[in-house]
Amino acid sequence: MQRARPSCLIVLLACALGACMPLPPRNPLATWVPSPNHEPRRPVLIVLHATEQDSVQESLDTLRSRNGGGPVSAHYLIGRDGHRFQLVADSERAWHAGAGRWGTITDVNNTSIGIELDNDGASEYPETQVRALVALLGDLCDRLDIPRRQVIAHADMAPTRKVDPGKLFPWRQLAEAGFGVWPALTDEPLPSGFDPWLALRLFGYPIDDRAAAVRAFHLRFRGIDTEALDDEDLRILHALTQQP
Ligand SMILES: [Zn+2]
Repeated sequence: MQRARPSCLIVLLACALGACMPLPPRNPLATWVPSPNHEPRRPVLIVLHATEQDSVQESLDTLRSRNGGGPVSAHYLIGRDGHRFQLVADSERAWHAGAGRWGTITDVNNTSIGIELDNDGASEYPETQVRALVALLGDLCDRLDIPRRQVIAHADMAPTRKVDPGKLFPWRQLAEAGFGVWPALTDEPLPSGFDPWLALRLFGYPIDDRAAAVRAFHLRFRGIDTEALDDEDLRILHALTQQP
């Protein structure tokens, strides 16, 4: 082995002392006066996806490279056997949501955690996989202080482009476990003048394309994929507006 020359030793010593550390993130237009009182930005929403692929391995590859639309990722991927993979740190912006919005949130990637569920888009979700999801949601909501009702479908925020996690996803079971929302229906008559489109919008749906918004609502609350509102929808929407 060759002996290190003194100049190399000086460089190594300087690195050890921090001279080779990356510069702190700062704007050269302003004087850097760092405060210790800060933390990573926190997400406020969790978006659930179905991979719509045939295996975990295929999805692990896709989520670390690209699909037909370009580079994609998600924070987590859960296999059908319940195994959880993390691909992106919670504090980072994963590329899972794409264009769309939810309520007043217009950049969903910036404010959310994305969870992919291994599912080909046409299969039931195994109990083991749902249990693994519920445990992860509990961890994320507790640790990151995300409101438990703020768990939505990819289809909810992008109804013109997406249908995942699809009509077979057990939203009611998830709500019974404490995540997302489920309507508490009553026999009370609807108030006169009840506006279902306003209710859809207040719940969070973008309604620029009303048929697409109804389809996403049906996927989530009725397990169907039709595009016209009926009386049952009005009862569900009214119940949702009554919930905290
Ligand atoms: Zn998706």
